Amino acid sequence: MGFNIEIAERLKNLPPYLFAEIDKKKKQKIKEGKDIIDLGVGDPDTPTPPYIVDRLCEEVRDAGSHRYPSGRGLIEFRVAISRWYKKRFNVALDPESEILPLIGSKEGIAHMPLAFINQRDTALIPDPCYPPYRSGVILAGGVPYYMPLLEQNAFLPDLDEVDYQVAQKAKIIYLNYPNNPTGACATEDFFKETVKFAETNKVIVCHDAAYSELSFEENKPLSFLQIEGAKDVGVEFHSLSKTFNMTGWRVGFACGRPEIIAALGKVKENIDSGVFEAIQRAGIEALEKETDHLKNLIDLYRQRRDVLVEGLGSLGWKVLKPRATFYVWIPVPPGYTSMELADKLLEKASVVVTPGVGFGDNGEGYIRIALTVNKERIEEAVERIAGLHE
Ligand SMILES: *Cc1c(COP(=O)(O)O)cnc(C)c1O
Repeated sequence: MGFNIEIAERLKNLPPYLFAEIDKKKKQKIKEGKDIIDLGVGDPDTPTPPYIVDRLCEEVRDAGSHRYPSGRGLIEFRVAISRWYKKRFNVALDPESEILPLIGSKEGIAHMPLAFINQRDTALIPDPCYPPYRSGVILAGGVPYYMPLLEQNAFLPDLDEVDYQVAQKAKIIYLNYPNNPTGACATEDFFKETVKFAETNKVIVCHDAAYSELSFEENKPLSFLQIEGAKDVGVEFHSLSKTFNMTGWRVGFACGRPEIIAALGKVKENIDSGVFEAIQRAGIEALEKETDHLKNLIDLYRQRRDVLVEGLGSLGWKVLKPRATFYVWIPVPPGYTSMELADKLLEKASVVVTPGVGFGDNGEGYIRIALTVNKERIEEAVERIAGLHE
């Protein structure tokens, strides 16, 4: 009963949620008692390292942390971030003006357009991509212009292909390397081109580096801010979620050009009150403690990756071995759309995967598998898929 509730245009403008049908079927199967192997969600299955949990427990008992967090994040946390950045990327960041803690990087990524996008302004967005880039832009009243990420270009957008007039009027460009969903990494040359593109067109670069630490290669992924001139044109988003198995804690940060950081800070000042200080202090522990955590985590994902890639390879699937991230981006065998294949795997093998089309039109023709279940379960999933071939 009651009056008719009409949602705002900005909500109606969001792209449709493509996984509703699959979600429904998955729930139904679980209810029927089916043993579902969920390779859909990119959420680490192993726990936060105990030293970080212990630090939180200590800090949470300190009544000082029970009040509203102060200003733009604890200065101690921002200093720890700047030290980590210097050590990891050899980039100097001013903790006062160039670093902003976030309630998870998704929060900052989605709020960013509110700082720079006016009605009908253009934002350049990779396709396929992590969905908050496009939803953040749409919620701010902006218009996404999609840059295809194609296998023949190593899943890097071709900036020369961006329409000249679109590039001229674009306000923001989102990029993400190592990339979700494709697992691709950026080259230094590509980042240099990006800086040039940004300078020429006066576009703010928002580089999402959530997977910068999850790489299987000797040469660690670059920070965009390592490139000369990058700090004059953009910011980089980082997250403790994937690096330290802290997705539920909600802590990340943005860093880069002070005016951009200040504008994002101003949006946030008006919307949220920052990250729980006990969590910021636990974040210091995560960034500063020397441990084997990361090496072990990468080894774990590498083993799982190899089991999956070799297993599906032996079935004749053409699988792209990711250089980084915990995702495998898999071309759909002929005869299926990504949605049809995902549906069949769920129906016939009780295996959940993400259809590529959910990440954008250019994701069609692929499915994404997350390596966030143990090796035995991945082996089991491969066996079940092998069963479908018989
Ligand atoms: C997981 C993920 C994030 C976000 O993480 P938070 O938990 O919000 O810090 C950001 N970008 C990409 C590409 C991701 O996959």
